[in-house]
Amino acid sequence: MAFLKSLRLFWTFHLLVFIVADGIGGPRAHTLCQHLDDSTHIEVVRPNEADYEALRTENWAQTAWQMPTCIVRPRNTEHLQKVIPKLVASNVSFTVRSGGHCPHAGAGNLNNGILIDMSYFNHFTYDERRAVVEIGTGLRWGEVYAQLDKYQVTVVGGRVADVGVGGLTLGGGLSWLSDLYGLVADNVLNFEVVLANGAVINANLEHHPDLFWALKGGATNFGIVTKIRLKTFPIHQVWGGFRFHPISDLPLLMDAMFEYQSRSINDPYANMMIMASPTNDTVGVIVTLIYLQPKIQPDVFEPFYRVNSILDTTQLQTLTEFIISNPLPNSTTRFDWASTTLKPNKLLYQDLANISVRSTSIEQIHSVTAGTLLFGFQPICSSAVRAGHARGGNALGLESVDQTWVVIDAVWWWSDDDDTVHSAVQSVVTEIYDRSTERDLSLPFLFMNDANWDQDVIASYGRSSVEKLRSVQKIYDPSQIFQRLKSGYFKLP
Ligand SMILES: Cc1cc2nc3c(=O)[nH]c(=O)nc-3n(C[C@H](O)[C@H](O)[C@H](O)COP(=O)(O)OP(=O)(O)OC[C@H]3O[C@@H](n4cnc5c(N)ncnc54)[C@H](O)[C@@H]3O)c2cc1C
Repeated sequence: MAFLKSLRLFWTFHLLVFIVADGIGGPRAHTLCQHLDDSTHIEVVRPNEADYEALRTENWAQTAWQMPTCIVRPRNTEHLQKVIPKLVASNVSFTVRSGGHCPHAGAGNLNNGILIDMSYFNHFTYDERRAVVEIGTGLRWGEVYAQLDKYQVTVVGGRVADVGVGGLTLGGGLSWLSDLYGLVADNVLNFEVVLANGAVINANLEHHPDLFWALKGGATNFGIVTKIRLKTFPIHQVWGGFRFHPISDLPLLMDAMFEYQSRSINDPYANMMIMASPTNDTVGVIVTLIYLQPKIQPDVFEPFYRVNSILDTTQLQTLTEFIISNPLPNSTTRFDWASTTLKPNKLLYQDLANISVRSTSIEQIHSVTAGTLLFGFQPICSSAVRAGHARGGNALGLESVDQTWVVIDAVWWWSDDDDTVHSAVQSVVTEIYDRSTERDLSLPFLFMNDANWDQDVIASYGRSSVEKLRSVQKIYDPSQIFQRLKSGYFKLP
């Protein structure tokens, strides 16, 4: 009940923010676009121009496509330093887009306001001696991996090549290397940020450590991140791939995942995830297995080998080849998702297998054109949390226990069905939350990168994190520009 109540409060708050922000978009945004076009050398693309349609629809999911008043394409921090104070002075709503993979309407694109497209922030410098790489937030992870392959090293980065560096890192970022080295944000050594007042700041363990901590999960509430410095690791050849199963194997596979998570000696080189789709008649479950060393069929995955698959692509390959071979689409129609977190338990996992094939939400999704529902089960070892603490900590308030981050994904065709799908996703995630709460196995954390726009993500980090984030906001964005004018995504409660 408390969960539903906080959802309702969050809804009301966001509706109010939406009404206020929409009101300040229109004419002022037009004037500002004109002014930026006339008085700066920054690329401004407006609705009557050739590139506008392609740029406006660059976001991964159609649910995120909007009609910005103009699209501003800065090439460097100096450009951003010019743009941001003008946005603030004109009180115009704006947003930032790095890889455009967030499917929420109004987060990585917006109506009636200015879209700042970061795609020219594609800086890449590798310092081989220090094993450190500096990358622009406009890059996609696939581009980063491809460049690092020349040196046979990698970073703790996204698990899908096409996703953007900016949004993924600011939400914490889950990597195939996370059990070994922590989340993506935990491995950032320095964030370069442009604040609302136009100042450029480098946040790291020595300088602005409070902001450094806040950017690791505090998302887009403090400034625009232009580049990050990451540690690199000598991981190149790996063993991994995808095992495809019928949906009827799900109970066995959930048992296998429980056994995998319960092993007495943890092997952080192993990582995996289960993706189940009750709406897909052919392939119902995809099990992703990855071992971060060139070791064929490592013992750690033994519980999965016992369940015969329809197709198995596991093999020795480079980490980049493995990531590129992910069967996820490069773009999609309409997309919704939601997150919940729970502790591993044999009985609860059977409940999850049951909900995944019997939930009434499945019928709702079946009723819409091209409706697909997916249940993602992502084991996170306590070693990932400890690695984060060892690197200076983050804002996520994670408990240092083994846990499973559940993501519910839905894909469908027409906007007329948005409400039906949204309510199905909400009800299935509530069903899982309720079941894990009944078994006393629920954890409060909501993973931002998988969370629905109406989930109160930052509140889920816990009171002390929220208070600390607020105090950081008071220092670096005292007028709460990013809270008020930056459209969409997760705000401080
Ligand atoms: C196919 C797919 C695979 C995924 N795989 C993973 C995964 O392996 N691990 C994981 O953790 N997540 C994953 N995600 C989730 C993903 O991390 C989030 O959707 C994230 O928001 C995407 O970042 P982006 O830069 O591509 O998105 P965008 O839509 O560009 O940005 C998302 C939000 O961050 C803000 N933002 C973006 N860049 C900046 C910046 N430089 N400064 C300030 N604010 C900024 C935007 O304004 C927006 O509100 C995946 C998503 C998809 C669709």
